[in-house]
Amino acid sequence: MSNVTKTAAPAAGRAAAKKELPEHFKAYKHVWVFVEQERGQVHPVSWELMGAGRRLADRLKVNLAAVVIGPEGQPTRNAALESFCYGADLAYLVSDNVLSDYRNESYTKALTELVNTYKPEILLLGATTLGRDLAGSVATTLSTGLTADCTALDVDADGSLAATRPTFGGSLLCTIYTLNYRPQMATVRPRVMPMPERVVRDAARIIIHPLGLVEDDIVTKVLTFIPDRDSETSNLAYADVVVAGGLGLGSPENFRLVRELATLLGAEYGCSRPLVQKGWVTSDRQIGQTGKTIRPKLYIAAGISGAIQHRVGVEGADLIVAINTDKNAPIFDFAHVAIVSDAMQLLPSLTAAFRARLLPDSRARLAV
Ligand SMILES: Cc1cc2nc3c(=O)[nH]c(=O)nc-3n(C[C@H](O)[C@H](O)[C@H](O)COP(=O)(O)OP(=O)(O)OC[C@H]3O[C@@H](n4cnc5c(N)ncnc54)[C@H](O)[C@@H]3O)c2cc1C
Repeated sequence: MSNVTKTAAPAAGRAAAKKELPEHFKAYKHVWVFVEQERGQVHPVSWELMGAGRRLADRLKVNLAAVVIGPEGQPTRNAALESFCYGADLAYLVSDNVLSDYRNESYTKALTELVNTYKPEILLLGATTLGRDLAGSVATTLSTGLTADCTALDVDADGSLAATRPTFGGSLLCTIYTLNYRPQMATVRPRVMPMPERVVRDAARIIIHPLGLVEDDIVTKVLTFIPDRDSETSNLAYADVVVAGGLGLGSPENFRLVRELATLLGAEYGCSRPLVQKGWVTSDRQIGQTGKTIRPKLYIAAGISGAIQHRVGVEGADLIVAINTDKNAPIFDFAHVAIVSDAMQLLPSLTAAFRARLLPDSRARLAV
């Protein structure tokens, strides 16, 4: 028997990185969700985040607060009132006509001032175009950590936010902690979190905070607002039914079969990434890790192999129907209905069958 004395290995990873939280950060408490609204419309990702925020706040036994920033008037106030129906205990409201259009400077000022004044421990934003822009500048202004595009949020045993996101091209998931700074910030893409049930509740506390900024202080000027008609026209992320095609369709012409079925079903159509890279389909239709996350009731995937980067965007669907000629295709590992078939034959047959069922007139025609 050897007489070797074992010394404890030095603390590695997270334990080694964690220091005592600096005294001035110990006052940071409560979970905040930024309620994104533009032109009176609240982005639904805000309510999805309220659901996630509610779970975190309950675990930490703290309050969940909504943060609403926008122009003076009823729509902005309504967004604050609506937040109570999605679980907020209180709302912070900064309303000023300088905030009519989103501008990074004014929104960053509003949000950083709120954080410095009321000190939340966790701050969540939607990973939308606006949310990504704002989260990045708020995190750098506050010199704190931001985990972008999270797929799961949790609280660990010592109360730290465990923010999980894909890494290495989606082949691994990593959990990131902001151990020594506050607030712990995270963004989450639309549809990644389930939409909580809306429960009518009376308004609780609304804390109104002044902006302390005038138009002349802001360098960026909005001259006019031109909606982008060429992109973001699809409602893919929030559609109940989605039909999508992949490389197995073989040619851009065959993608028409996907569009025809989608149109008949009143569905949205989407695709895997290679079709966007080949220029067959526009990028706003891409589904997956670097495209949209979807949560439809029905997802029909034709000629898509089911790579992990595609899978992460669709696994929230209630029913996944996959059509693939290869019975060993990875998509069959997570599809609810697996159809081993040639999509070029099955898609037209499905369209004809649905047409016969959905349109009584065409049933007569098909019967001839
Ligand atoms: C960093 C990174 C990010 C990525 N992000 C995304 C993303 O957001 N979304 C995404 O989709 N991909 C993404 N990808 C690419 C991903 O890894 C896959 O390459 C891609 O999803 C494959 O697309 P596909 O299934 O259409 O093609 P393939 O993998 O080539 O699969 C084609 C499938 O069609 C089947 N098939 C062939 N002929 C027929 C037929 N006649 N009828 C029916 N089936 C047929 C084949 O059996 C095969 O399974 C990403 C990759 C990386 C590295």
